[in-house]
Amino acid sequence: MQSDFGFNFDNSYARLPGILFSFQEPASIPAPQAVVINDELAEFLGLSPQALRSEAGTAVLAGNENPPGGLPLAQAYAGHQFGHFTMLGDGRAILIGEQITPSGQRYDLQLKGSGRTPYSRGGDGKAALGPMLREYIISEAMHSLKIPTTRSLAVVTTGEQVQRERLLPGAVLTRVAASHLRVGTFQYASGLRDEKVLKQLADYAIKRHYPDISLEANKYLALFRAAVRAQASLVAGWMLVGFVHGVMNTDNMTISGETIDYGPCAFMDTFDPAVVFSSIDYHGRYAYANQPKIAAWNLARFAEALLPLIDDDQEKARLLAEDELKNFHAQYNKDFLDGMRRKLGLKGAQEEDAELVGDLLQLMYEHRADYTNTFLDLTFGRFDEGSLYRSEAFASWKLRWQKRLSGNAEPWEETQKRMKQSNPAVIPRNHRVEEALRPAVQAGDYRPLHKLLQILADPFSHSPEQAEYAAPPDPEAPPYRTFCGT
Ligand code: AMP
Ligand code: MG
Repeated sequence: MQSDFGFNFDNSYARLPGILFSFQEPASIPAPQAVVINDELAEFLGLSPQALRSEAGTAVLAGNENPPGGLPLAQAYAGHQFGHFTMLGDGRAILIGEQITPSGQRYDLQLKGSGRTPYSRGGDGKAALGPMLREYIISEAMHSLKIPTTRSLAVVTTGEQVQRERLLPGAVLTRVAASHLRVGTFQYASGLRDEKVLKQLADYAIKRHYPDISLEANKYLALFRAAVRAQASLVAGWMLVGFVHGVMNTDNMTISGETIDYGPCAFMDTFDPAVVFSSIDYHGRYAYANQPKIAAWNLARFAEALLPLIDDDQEKARLLAEDELKNFHAQYNKDFLDGMRRKLGLKGAQEEDAELVGDLLQLMYEHRADYTNTFLDLTFGRFDEGSLYRSEAFASWKLRWQKRLSGNAEPWEETQKRMKQSNPAVIPRNHRVEEALRPAVQAGDYRPLHKLLQILADPFSHSPEQAEYAAPPDPEAPPYRTFCGT
């Protein structure tokens, strides 16, 4: 039976020093039912969607049965949460194994919401259905938007209720990640004051994510450099689609450069650099426009953890790391501006491009324009609705843009074709996500959710049915709020 699944597990994390994790079986679940399974991802991983959909498959995805070759464990980590250092660890997630795909890539399969672990602190180790479905929708949408991210293989309801502000149906999400190594994993290892452990962890990260640097003279500095690059490009990707992560604590920043932790995240509708969705982000620490700065702050914490490996002379190590960190903003600005050039259809790079982009964003802000749709309007030449397009400032901006485009030396159709590939027809708008979650959670009706998943699966196709999902929320609707610890 089990060989039909296609599981091809290795457990390299379990070969690291034992202080970095705890073996932990997932809790057993009374009445598991698979409600969403990601066939495409299953096939990519070399797993059989049919087998996963069977009763035996549900038992695995619920944590009731270990897949063959799996060695379940919870990882230890620490982290700065809203700037304050805390010991954490997988409090409600269990790594069940590392799947080696048919093309030889390694992915963690992790069950989220599968019971208490030694790192649960006061928590119940469980997860509610709504937030797990939300993570499924948004992480898969991010993948379709071509932004590096952990992915979602399945959501299984447990048949149990979990106690939050009120009782909610429980669920387990299967998260798939290039790894779950976080900045916080290194902060934890560094706190052990055992250089051997730290070195083993760093060597592991290099081997798993950046094997090309293993021969560099200072490979630990090179590891830091690689993480700086990956994060600069990741955060630029977020900014270009209007994504607000919402909880950029150091434990929620991966070494691989994948987006992780879809708790309080949200996509913005109206362009506003100060936008915050999280109900507990009182000071706007993780506001849209702060994200690059926070990423750099988190990377500084990563550097601090790596210092003992970078050079025996700690002062020298600090200077070397600081030099690398300085590149973050240059790298980020380049990635962001290049992305904006693609969104505006600009070929090549001109001195004036940054100003052209900045002026457009400023106008969008002043006119409370919808971020995603403004770029679609530019792509499709739709300038009939909204105060932005009636303003003189926009008319003169548009002339500058068109003048810049005339240097492309190609027919408009070619430019438009490229813009369509860089400006998504749809993003997971909060009101649409909520509309899909409500019937699923309250009535077990998953049709709106599947429809939304299908609409979001190919955001660059610009199909007619996507138009309905592109509409911003009712302007009278109260501001959208998200919640942590869900
Ligand atoms: P997060 O806000 O999801 O990044 O989680 C921060 C920390 O709290 C992590 O160590 C989580 O494992 C832990 N945590 C979150 N929810 C729970 C829960 N229901 N039970 C136990 N630990 C949890
Ligand atoms: Mg987290």
